[in-house]
Amino acid sequence: MHRRKFLKNSSLTTAGLISAPVLSSCKTEPKMESAVQTEAIKPIVVCTWDFHNASTKAWEVLQKGGNALDAVEEGVRVEEADVTNETVGKGGRPDRDGNVTLDACIMDSAGNCGSVVYLQNIAHPISVARKVMEETPHIILAGKGAEQFAYEQGFKKEDLLTESTRRQYEEWKKESKYETIINIENHDTIGMLAIDAKGDIAGACTTSGMAYKVAGRVGDSPIIGAGLFVDNEVGAATATGVGEEVIRTVGSFLIVELMRQGKSPQEACEEGVKRIMEKNKDRKDFQIGFLAINKKGETGAYCVHPGFSYRKYDPNGHENVPSNSFYS
Ligand code: ASP
Repeated sequence: MHRRKFLKNSSLTTAGLISAPVLSSCKTEPKMESAVQTEAIKPIVVCTWDFHNASTKAWEVLQKGGNALDAVEEGVRVEEADVTNETVGKGGRPDRDGNVTLDACIMDSAGNCGSVVYLQNIAHPISVARKVMEETPHIILAGKGAEQFAYEQGFKKEDLLTESTRRQYEEWKKESKYETIINIENHDTIGMLAIDAKGDIAGACTTSGMAYKVAGRVGDSPIIGAGLFVDNEVGAATATGVGEEVIRTVGSFLIVELMRQGKSPQEACEEGVKRIMEKNKDRKDFQIGFLAINKKGETGAYCVHPGFSYRKYDPNGHENVPSNSFYS
């Protein structure tokens, strides 16, 4: 059970939750109409899809009093290392030339962020992104430069293609047809958002991008504001699915801004998907999933087609939460 506290009228006015005209028209003390939950649910971690090993790892970090930034990095690293996950890190599917190219970004509660795009031969792009954030004056490093930087930081060179992804790629080459396949493991980024015991928020997002993409293609996942955005005053959001559509609406930033304007995480995610669908009338061939959390630890998600879900781990337990969708 969460402990709930109730604001007194005086603190409501202090917090500016009752507008001046309303107050000035009040002859008596305003009555509390509804209870306001002031105590945030924390710590808490959520991640896209049913990546329960990743959320478990992040929860372990948070439980031990670790901070949100370490939790999200440690959490998504689990999927980056898992070669049976063919959409993230080592074992991710390659581009159409057969090269595995990884995208990732990370953002902390102070608004610091780091990103790597089109990174090859390194299994943990999220940790390289964190190094970009912490060790350079820059935010994004790309391709060869990012790889060189990773070696300088002590990361080791690895072949990211596995027997399985090599075989699938050889099969794919026979027809060489790229198509987005809704909810099939063609694309499934892990985006993770956490609030630590101090109430600070951080997020991470990492992917091998769309399988068999054009060489050089970068999606939304490593783009701050598109695949991930954190605002420690408000909340955070992350995305999965066809990155081009998320970039066009700067999806994660949009969702955090909508929360800032008063929408719940759920309402904000729904509005984010609707904005995309307004630009894609009658187009049903792609999936997007948005996931958001606000400062209070309330969460929400929404997607284009059924099938998206997210993992949530908080003091109440660990669950896979199915998302509602634009199309039924
Ligand atoms: N958003 C990723 C991209 O466009 C793909 C995914 O979510 O699976 O690269």
